[in-house]
Amino acid sequence: MISEAKNIIKESNYLVAFTGAGISVESGIPPFRGENGIWNKYDPEIFDLEYFYNNPKQSWEMIKNVFLKKINQTKPNKAHYWLAELEKKGVLKSIITQNIDNLHHKAGSSDVIEFHGNSRNLVCLNCKSVVTVEQTNLEKIPPKCKKCNSVLKPDFIFFGEQIPTDAFRQSIDAVEKADVLLVIGTTGMVIPASQLPYEAHKNGAKIIEINIEKSAYTNTITDIFLRGKASEVLPKLSDI
Ligand code: NAD
Ligand code: ZN
Repeated sequence: MISEAKNIIKESNYLVAFTGAGISVESGIPPFRGENGIWNKYDPEIFDLEYFYNNPKQSWEMIKNVFLKKINQTKPNKAHYWLAELEKKGVLKSIITQNIDNLHHKAGSSDVIEFHGNSRNLVCLNCKSVVTVEQTNLEKIPPKCKKCNSVLKPDFIFFGEQIPTDAFRQSIDAVEKADVLLVIGTTGMVIPASQLPYEAHKNGAKIIEINIEKSAYTNTITDIFLRGKASEVLPKLSDI
């Protein structure tokens, strides 16, 4: 199966990768679901937009300690670097990621569509000004906008929020162009992101999936299922 997948990648005209929390697990960022998932320790309510509006301090406590601190200290793993190399070789055209951890950028990938936003920036709930996390003093939370003193929110998507329009359009465009889609470390349960591989499949793309366990795609649209850790399986798919 590895050699079949290798050939499909080699012969692809427009290869796209779709990544989820699983690709970053080996960098030390827990996924939402499963044994060591974030939801086992924290209430998903913290990422609910309504809850954030009403309890910004409580939301920020968790965001700061669990998310931003961890993400800033984290390094890409072999899977992120492999994708970055494949882009440099001109084989991989773009990455659509559901992750907000910035690890594809840190690994050197440049064509990265951040479907759920990012954790580099903060946005003002009122005047929509954008500042970087680095520029912001997080000693006192919730952090406030320097222009209008309203609460700043991380620039990633909370439950109940719209997908950024550009990211949505670019993702649809990428899956429509794709003749091969690598689906890496995602359960396929987060709507509407989860619809993208189905779109690709509908347009005739071959689906190669890498995951430690079966997902919603495995028995439906996946052509080749490669079971295993992303950082171990991906490097086997080329000589990089
Ligand atoms: P998920 O938490 O629902 O599922 C993670 C998937 O990764 C599972 O299918 C699991 O079997 C697989 N997996 C675990 N370890 C793996 C490994 N080493 N190699 C390959 N696969 C592995 O994640 P999701 O489906 O991506 O969706 C959850 C949402 O959570 C996403 O929208 C994402 O925005 C968000 N999220 C992001 C981060 C991050 O930025 N790193 C972390 C947690 C959650
Ligand atoms: Zn403001």
